[in-house]
Amino acid sequence: MFRDSGEKRIGDCPVCNHNTAHRISCPTNGMQFVGQDTKMTGMEVVGTSQRSIARILEKACSQERMTSEEALSLLLSGEFHRIGQAADCVRVHKHPEGKVSFLIDRNISYTNVCVARCTFCNFYRKPGHEEGYILPHQTIFEKIEETLQLGGTGVLMQGGMHPELKIDYFEDLLNSIRQRYPIHLHCFSPPEIVVLARLSKISLREAIRRLKKAGLDSIPGGGAEILVEPMRRRISPGKCTAQEWLEVMRVAHQEGLLTTATMMIGGGETVQDRVEHLRNLRRLQDETGGFVAFIPWNVQLEGTPMQASIESQVGSLEYLTLLAVSRIYLDNFKNVQVSWLTQGLKVAQIALLWGANYVGSIMLEENVMSTAGACYTASRQDLVQVISAAGFVPVQRDTLYRTFQKPS
Ligand code: SF4
Repeated sequence: MFRDSGEKRIGDCPVCNHNTAHRISCPTNGMQFVGQDTKMTGMEVVGTSQRSIARILEKACSQERMTSEEALSLLLSGEFHRIGQAADCVRVHKHPEGKVSFLIDRNISYTNVCVARCTFCNFYRKPGHEEGYILPHQTIFEKIEETLQLGGTGVLMQGGMHPELKIDYFEDLLNSIRQRYPIHLHCFSPPEIVVLARLSKISLREAIRRLKKAGLDSIPGGGAEILVEPMRRRISPGKCTAQEWLEVMRVAHQEGLLTTATMMIGGGETVQDRVEHLRNLRRLQDETGGFVAFIPWNVQLEGTPMQASIESQVGSLEYLTLLAVSRIYLDNFKNVQVSWLTQGLKVAQIALLWGANYVGSIMLEENVMSTAGACYTASRQDLVQVISAAGFVPVQRDTLYRTFQKPS
């Protein structure tokens, strides 16, 4: 086991020092967090004394880049309040105007047929299942028309890893929408693009070029989960590898498409896995600058195969700390979004003081997280109130984080 310079080991409860390696919660005080069960590669924990944590946070407030080891130390330190304050300091530096934005859009799941077998998903159906579907174009058009009528500016269209849909299906779908509607098309996460390119026997670059030509505006950062093998293989055995996910984003950025980046926590990953995920994103952002935002969310387990292997869901404090450390560590990301869908509006409001500058979208429809227990809903007025009450100016934005309207 890796050890720090003194006070805590990885796997120690950040509050009482009880060693909780291989556990999800501390048996002494019930505190929930991720225990250590895999080896860390290339990272060693630096000292987590009060002084060293203070030094790390001072660096953050001075806009100095944090190392991966320092990020790990923060996540293990239990210094929740100070980490939140430092993240807020970074957020103020990046967004001194005091505005917080939101989006009105709709998730459209064009198919639920999937071969990825994610253990956190209740939404998908195996090929040949009687409940499997591919939405008719007309149904998609009607959803888009409704979105536009409700003031929406974009659609986030994603689906399962369908084993038969090739590039011509996606080109036809994009073309048919583009010809009819003035709406931002934020579509097809990297795992979908890997599958459609493979099925079509074309390179990732050709697939992305053709999708862009057919009307694709940007790519969602879905399907990232945790960009660390073998954790990824455990929770999404049929999904693309971490390197493939990153390669899709690299090529997309090179081809002029902006993308978001996500991270799913609470699926049994270690703290080191979380840092490794952030490190992968920061490296690629240094190379391309094509990520417009980072969006961490906590997995929803209700009724999923994963539920039996996880004792409890990620708590709000753990989520907020991860979000705050992400804000500090991802110094080359301008926008950090809180996931109100999985944390609720009250936690989302606090997150605005812990580094987030964006509360996500109203999402007129969502399927994967909702079918696994995410039960929060929000109207435009709800988001405006949450933002205003936290002391910020609410502004509506588009999918690429361009604000265009101050809501009344
Ligand atoms: S989360 Fe997406 S990729 Fe994974 S099984 Fe569900 S539909 Fe398939």
